[in-house]
Amino acid sequence: MEQLKGGIDAGGTTFKCGVADASGTIIARRRIPVTSPDVTIAACSDFFGPYALESLGIASFGPIDVDRQSPDYGMIQSTPKAGWSGVNLREAFHASLGLMPVIETDVNGALLAEMHRGAAKGLTSAAYVTVGTGIGAGFWGNGGFLGQPHHPEFGHIGVPRHPADADFKSVCLFHADCLEGLASATAMRMRAGAPETLAESDPAWDIEAYYLAAACRAIFLNLRPQRIILGGGLMLAAHLPDKIHSAFDVQMGGYLGQTRATARQLIVTPGLGDDAGLVGAILLGGGQGPA
Ligand code: ZN
Repeated sequence: MEQLKGGIDAGGTTFKCGVADASGTIIARRRIPVTSPDVTIAACSDFFGPYALESLGIASFGPIDVDRQSPDYGMIQSTPKAGWSGVNLREAFHASLGLMPVIETDVNGALLAEMHRGAAKGLTSAAYVTVGTGIGAGFWGNGGFLGQPHHPEFGHIGVPRHPADADFKSVCLFHADCLEGLASATAMRMRAGAPETLAESDPAWDIEAYYLAAACRAIFLNLRPQRIILGGGLMLAAHLPDKIHSAFDVQMGGYLGQTRATARQLIVTPGLGDDAGLVGAILLGGGQGPA
């Protein structure tokens, strides 16, 4: 029988389920809306039911326990998502499908996929930052995900205020000056309205680029990854990367020979687009690291 691998890109609003054949080609997929844990998990299990899976990987929203030695491995921790705090995805899918899934964060899943076949293919260190409703990041270096046995909480690093943004109230419930509170899509919406309807010339984009450049600067100076991939809904604005490269250039001040041109090589958008999380989940389930 052919060896089939399953994966779930478990996002906050949609669980994307997929089955891949031995070559890694996705042969079946389904998007399942996130409602209650029971209904969502049952719908995913129904999708996988007909396939004889040899592995299942789940790249999940967080915070989630990803410590493989922990008794709570696979458990979603305190989340504002109603009913989901304390749900153990690993145990739930083991109960319904009879195999033990591998659990990682959604950003680590996307990062792994990008290192296999996307924007960081062939490299040995990279970062993946998702800029959406919230902000999260995964890092690969020294042959593994960084931050284990936990996972990074990069969305909550402090960033300096943009001079024109002094009066904006952070949307983070915990921090007055964190990246997620000032630069998530939620923050953009509160500051200037729906990002998808905002003119390219709106100054809110410069503020956004300033914060994301500060985030890239922190990553680059701390870890020196070969590539920083910026994904998530907000990065679909095609003009935003250019603005980030310019802001990064200014903020680096020429240090380490950084210019706009090197920033364009360093800071990129995903190569796999919307499929990164699902491809990464399938790879994780199969026990794979970067190629
Ligand atoms: Zn915060």
